[in-house]
Parts: sequence; C-alpha cells; structure tokens
Amino acid sequence: MNLSPKPKCNKVLSELSDYLDKGIDPALRAEIEQHLMKCKDCRVVVDTTKKTIDIFCNSEPAPIPEDARHRLYEALQRKIKNCQP
Ligand SMILES: [Zn+2]
Repeated sequence: MNLSPKPKCNKVLSELSDYLDKGIDPALRAEIEQHLMKCKDCRVVVDTTKKTIDIFCNSEPAPIPEDARHRLYEALQRKIKNCQP
C-alpha cells in the first residue's frame, strides 16, 4: 500500500526545531522518531541539523548566531519544498 507518499515530511520538518530543543510533546516526538526510521530524507535533514547544532554548542558557549540560524532555516525550507511531490 502506497497511497499517501511521504505524508509527514512537512510536519516533521516544521516541528524540527522543537524536536531538537526537546520542548516537544512526547507523543509527537514518538511520531517523528517513527517517521525518521522510515524516511531517509528527513533523517538526513535531522542528522545534519543536529551536527550543525553540536558544532556550535561545542565550539562556543553562545547560542547559534543569528545568520547561521537563518541559513539553517532557509536550507530547511528548501528541503521541505523538495520533500513535497
Ligand atoms: Zn520524511
């Protein structure tokens, strides 16, 4: 059965910042994690975003600089568009 191609990519990516901030509803978090197990595209985005955040967190105590945050957001927006059929 393949009636609804990638129904949740948009949702996963739109909840991504909350997901990474751990400020997310546990049920939604579980839903996202289930989706990530099945969807390689979203997994790549999440992994890349996590690594980017880790790099910033490890190299300096300051929060993510505004321009980096903005670039990340734009990359995500592009990804969301590509994710849609
Ligand atoms: Zn996906």
